[in-house]
Amino acid sequence: MIIGFQQNQRMKHKISLHKIAEKKNGRPLENGSISANKSPNSLMLIAGPCSAESEVQVRKTAEAISLTGVDVSYFRAGLWKPRSQPGTFEGAGYKGIDWLKAVKRDFNLPIITEVANPQHVEMVLKNGIDAVWIGARTTVNPFYVQEIANALKGVDIPVFVKNPVNPDLELWMGAIERIEKAIQAEVFPLHRGFNMTGNSRFRNRPVWQIPIELHTRRPELTMICDPSHIAGDRKYIYEVSQKAINLNYRGLMIETHIDPPNALSDAAQQISPALLSDVLKRIQLRSTTEIKPEDSPKLSKFRERIDELDFQLLDLLKKRMDVSSEIGAWKQNNKVSILQPERWSAILKRANDYAAEIGLSSEFIDQLFKAIHDESIDRQTAADVGKLINEYGRE
Ligand code: PEP
Ligand code: MN
Repeated sequence: MIIGFQQNQRMKHKISLHKIAEKKNGRPLENGSISANKSPNSLMLIAGPCSAESEVQVRKTAEAISLTGVDVSYFRAGLWKPRSQPGTFEGAGYKGIDWLKAVKRDFNLPIITEVANPQHVEMVLKNGIDAVWIGARTTVNPFYVQEIANALKGVDIPVFVKNPVNPDLELWMGAIERIEKAIQAEVFPLHRGFNMTGNSRFRNRPVWQIPIELHTRRPELTMICDPSHIAGDRKYIYEVSQKAINLNYRGLMIETHIDPPNALSDAAQQISPALLSDVLKRIQLRSTTEIKPEDSPKLSKFRERIDELDFQLLDLLKKRMDVSSEIGAWKQNNKVSILQPERWSAILKRANDYAAEIGLSSEFIDQLFKAIHDESIDRQTAADVGKLINEYGRE
């Protein structure tokens, strides 16, 4: 009885991100909806399963999400699934559209699904789907993106453009522009991480610098994050979501399933509706207003210290690279190969061990040292090339 009462109460007083923010920061923030999205402090939430698997799974997921009272801007479910391996579940296809329409009708939830070709676009438009996303494997190909843009010409439903699987900012921005030229409604960059080599606890590396650069170039765009495909594992969903919010993203797409372990796609990264509600309660929204130094002397002290340290870092890097150039010249004179794999492995191991000792993340140090090593090889190569140019110059 008590449980029933609590559920009723929750239904009446929806736990919206608006309320969460008020509670945590004592500052009113608007809840996530397309219209509210114009406000700098609003947050959009897209939740639902990776794939629409069956009528019952779609309906139960939507019902359970509604019962939590979480304020959802769009209910997501993929109908056509781009799977790496043939023979895995490739989505319910067109027949699933009726399941999504039923969710919209019965739970009053706007619907979003993925489109990967003009036929998909035609089917979703004919059936009143409220928004679409373009997947990472589609964004990589400007031909596909243009075909989708042509099929969407003149429509006024929002389109979310996922980053391409490879870390190429221009490709992502180009796809966004193609869609912007075609449609009347808003286009949202949707960051889902990049498929890259190297150690990472995440399925797709976030490479936050890329979306940050996109937002720096196009500050008027509203950044949305897909922590599910970045994380690949439900235990990191909260962490990635909070990081995105800290970086001024204004929306999250979180894969939510009624029975995550038995999902037919992306089982490891999906979360239950109860966990979704939990994650959202823990997320702390931050003010996106720029703080001027005169507003906080403490913050300006921190910034001064950071600026000073950054210069010291740059000076150190310059010294490091000057030594690389000298080694390059020495190796050239002694006809020794530039890449010394054993020495390089030892450097990386030593850096990682020391980083662990002083509390720096091994992902960060790995990336930093690889970048330093790349530049160092370029310097050493430049010493060779420089010498050659001089020799040719003498001829
Ligand atoms: C998805 O959202 O389920 C999906 C297939 O995403 P992505 O294109 O990011 O892999
Ligand atoms: Mn998925």
